[in-house]
Amino acid sequence: MTFQLSEDHQAIRDAAKEFAVNEIAPTAVERDKTAEFPTEIVQKMGELGFMGMMVAPEWGGAGLDTVCYTLALEEIAKVDASCAVIMSVNNSLVCWVIETFGTPEQKERFLRPLAMGGKLGAYCLSEPGVGSDATQQATTATLQPDGSYLINGAKNWITNGTKADHYIVFAQSDPAKKHHGITCFLVEKGMPGFEIGLKEDKLGIRSSDTCSLGFTDVRVGPDRIVGAEGQGFKIAMETLNGGRIGIAAQALGIASGAMEKAIRYSFERHAFGQPINHLQTIQFKLADMQVKTEAARMLIFRAARKKDAGENYIKEAAMAKLYASRIAMEVATEAIQVHGGYGYVREYLVERALRDAKITEIYEGTSEIQHIVIARQLMKEYELSN
Ligand SMILES: Cc1cc2nc3c(=O)[nH]c(=O)nc-3n(C[C@H](O)[C@H](O)[C@H](O)COP(=O)(O)OP(=O)(O)OC[C@H]3O[C@@H](n4cnc5c(N)ncnc54)[C@H](O)[C@@H]3O)c2cc1C
Repeated sequence: MTFQLSEDHQAIRDAAKEFAVNEIAPTAVERDKTAEFPTEIVQKMGELGFMGMMVAPEWGGAGLDTVCYTLALEEIAKVDASCAVIMSVNNSLVCWVIETFGTPEQKERFLRPLAMGGKLGAYCLSEPGVGSDATQQATTATLQPDGSYLINGAKNWITNGTKADHYIVFAQSDPAKKHHGITCFLVEKGMPGFEIGLKEDKLGIRSSDTCSLGFTDVRVGPDRIVGAEGQGFKIAMETLNGGRIGIAAQALGIASGAMEKAIRYSFERHAFGQPINHLQTIQFKLADMQVKTEAARMLIFRAARKKDAGENYIKEAAMAKLYASRIAMEVATEAIQVHGGYGYVREYLVERALRDAKITEIYEGTSEIQHIVIARQLMKEYELSN
């Protein structure tokens, strides 16, 4: 496998970097304080093709590969991890589901506007009592005599929750079949009985939007089922496999952004009559940070390449997410250390990296769950080869 970027990859990375630095960075600090959603930025991301990067042009997307997607996400997360997660959910968890499992009618009606950035999507799997064990969906979808379903229940922690137009919702439609009875539905904002909760006040990714959702007899027709009835759990898990590559890229962006700031500061700050980057301790910290970010980048690249090649990438995606999120925490912590006391205050930006990094160890499968996924795949590979 070659780790070389093509000219197209480099062009996408440069375009994302330019956009991130010029259009996102200037308001990132303020939005972190106010937790204001970046409405205009998301609109521009849509116009530039960042909201449907991997969707086929036939459905209004940019038709790019997963490598391009991770490069763009890294550049955007470098300056603002909130914008990165908004983009990541729309791309990996919403557009991908509809493009992969949706009907041509669903693609025309829902995917096209989502991919072009005119509409925003959300992915609703977690519930107040259900997180890592998503088999236990308490939200129900009850079949009615006319063929429609009534959805009842609650979802929690939904990214883009208050701002989205279209929601991918998982619900139990046949409890006797346990997780084989879970079905995936498309729900729209404004449907009777669909209630949107208050935005959560979070530690990090503060200007992203996270909320709970309520469903009381929300009626959806069979044309709102994505994939087949009972296929929902499989769809949810396959979607998260791809999503993890995006979250790994987000974590890498947080880490590489913090590292760049630490390097810059190490030139500016003097101690004992010299710039601190003349001190071996600081040099070694920076060297370790570099090794970690590069290793994460390689894991992400490998997972993305495998996905693009149509190979099984479950283990690689989990490895990339597990490692990138871990090193995002470590690199952000060390970036603060390099800044000394200045690293502990908002003005120098690296404390935001630490607050933003933490979520990458939690959502789209916690680090503990990534260990389980990786170990399971290892065992399968061993059994197959012996
Ligand atoms: C900011 C934010 C945004 C989010 N966005 C979305 C979204 O858009 N859509 C969505 O559906 N969800 C979203 N989530 C939910 C997120 O995916 C869950 O929080 C996550 O999957 C963990 O579930 P939980 O919080 O219920 O923790 P739990 O599952 O209750 O886990 C608690 C602890 O137990 C550990 N644990 C659980 N099971 C095991 C096990 N088998 N072995 C070892 N350890 C285990 C976990 O790793 C964790 O440390 C978001 C969450 C946050 C905080």
